[in-house]
Amino acid sequence: MPKKELEVRLISIPENLIDTIYTACRTCYSADGAVEIYSNLTQDNEKKLSLIRRVISSGHYSTIEHIQISFAINNISRAATHQLVRHRHMSFSQKSQRYVNEKEFNYIVPSSILQNQNLLNRFESLMTNIADIYNEFVAAGIKKEDARAILPNAAASSMVASLNLRELIHLANLRLCTRAQLEIRQLVKKMCELVVEREPWLKEHLVPKCERLGYCDEDNSCGRMPLKAELIKEKIHG
Ligand SMILES: Cc1cc2nc3c(=O)[nH]c(=O)nc-3n(C[C@H](O)[C@H](O)[C@H](O)COP(=O)(O)OP(=O)(O)OC[C@H]3O[C@@H](n4cnc5c(N)ncnc54)[C@H](O)[C@@H]3O)c2cc1C
Repeated sequence: MPKKELEVRLISIPENLIDTIYTACRTCYSADGAVEIYSNLTQDNEKKLSLIRRVISSGHYSTIEHIQISFAINNISRAATHQLVRHRHMSFSQKSQRYVNEKEFNYIVPSSILQNQNLLNRFESLMTNIADIYNEFVAAGIKKEDARAILPNAAASSMVASLNLRELIHLANLRLCTRAQLEIRQLVKKMCELVVEREPWLKEHLVPKCERLGYCDEDNSCGRMPLKAELIKEKIHG
């Protein structure tokens, strides 16, 4: 059975991203109208970024919701896409297991299993069995929408995923955290890298939440930042 690497491509991101956000920011604080502000934009990018940084760090997030970004994603497990689709401000178009025959379904092997040859053999033999039974069901006239009931969480999927910049920052905050599962962490890391390639100034915002907060709000810290509870204890007891 085929096994492939995660692939992520940036489909679209606005060309005039900084101008769009800057116009949104200035519109809130200027006596001028949005049309005048957009028509008379400064050419000084640093000036624009300085205002944008201040507005983002003060939590005035509506200004970055105007930026819509789309990605094409291949070779991601159904387990990971199930986690991704929990993000309610994202839009998805995902390969359908109702319409597409999965007779040679691709699957994603978690890296922990890849490292253990015995377990990997067991995993692969199970995948082969599943494919055989799936094909038997379809050949017996079972509809694909019912035959898919036996496909595993590891079955590979493909999707177009879109979100605005506010949601991308939120997604990065949650899913770059080491508490998130490795596969979705790797996916979100690639999505962020592609965006930072185009807009390097966004690097400081596309970070795990602890870097934004300055502490870890999980039960256990990976050690990158102190736990919130530890900071409070230190503040009270010195
Ligand atoms: C490490 C980790 C472990 C997890 N484990 C589990 C688990 O065991 N079981 C499980 O079911 N899920 C689990 N989740 C999923 C988690 O509960 C969220 O559903 C998912 O992360 C989406 O986050 P969100 O709701 O903040 O984001 P989004 O849906 O992307 O929404 C962004 C923000 O919009 C606001 N918002 C959106 N919808 C509403 C609403 N209806 N009402 C009020 N505010 C809203 C909130 O402020 C929210 O933070 C886990 C997530 C992580 C990162």
